[in-house]
Amino acid sequence: MSKRALVTGGSRGIGAAIAERLAQAGHRVIVNYRGNHAAAEALLARIVEAGGQAELACFDVADPDASTRAMQALVEKDPEPISIVVNNAGITQDGPFPGLSAEQWTRVTRTSLDGFFNVTQPLVMPMVRKRWGRIINITSISGIIGHRGQTNYSAAKAGLIGATRSLAQELAKRNITVNAIAPGLIETDMIKDLDTAMLKKIVPMQRLGRPSEVAELVHFLASDNAAYITGQVITISGGLG
Ligand code: NDP
Repeated sequence: MSKRALVTGGSRGIGAAIAERLAQAGHRVIVNYRGNHAAAEALLARIVEAGGQAELACFDVADPDASTRAMQALVEKDPEPISIVVNNAGITQDGPFPGLSAEQWTRVTRTSLDGFFNVTQPLVMPMVRKRWGRIINITSISGIIGHRGQTNYSAAKAGLIGATRSLAQELAKRNITVNAIAPGLIETDMIKDLDTAMLKKIVPMQRLGRPSEVAELVHFLASDNAAYITGQVITISGGLG
């Protein structure tokens, strides 16, 4: 059945593939992004051309005031609750820990972890009233096994896993599932400056993942077929980690 779905960081990479997959499944998708209007408009055009329904919502999930204003507007403009939320917005600002600035620390943790709170918290009571919801948090294997130079990112992603497990327990009785997906190395702009030939060698499957492969898992977790899965962290990494 068609639902209202919000994908944060949905204009490029993994988020764009998720938005397209959910729209293809018949959901009305709200695509959040931070500032790259051209990428967002191009995605919107692709979804509409394929017969899907979507709208854009440009705001910084790391900014609590901007998020509150945006969420209020989205909730008020349509009586149908947003019952699928995919917290996908995330950034990296890597560096060895001794040289990491406070700005690098907070920018990364605010985007992945505070962003989850800023966006999800206003949506939970409407989901509870509807007795149906899906909260899917995109974390990373870096939040499970750690990675050198990613203390900030690993902390943010591990925090998101803790939040996933606790919120799943709070909401289970209300027919709302909360799960995390931990991708390994997925071919997007986020890793475009890395040595991909070298990276492939450390993946047991010897290749990078595709955004569409993560999107397929999100689509499943968002469906009624996944109703009994909650509080889980599902790794999708070609065997890495
Ligand atoms: P990309 O860099 O390709 O895309 C990032 C998306 O997030 C863009 O749509 C961007 O919008 C948006 N975004 C960034 N910051 C904000 C913000 N503060 N508020 C709103 N939107 C924001 O990233 P990926 O697709 O690679 O990553 C998606 C998620 O998957 C992230 O959480 C990442 O940590 C996680 N992940 C990625 C892996 C990979 O190998 N690629 C591996 C493991 C996890 P705009 O274009 O406007 O800037």
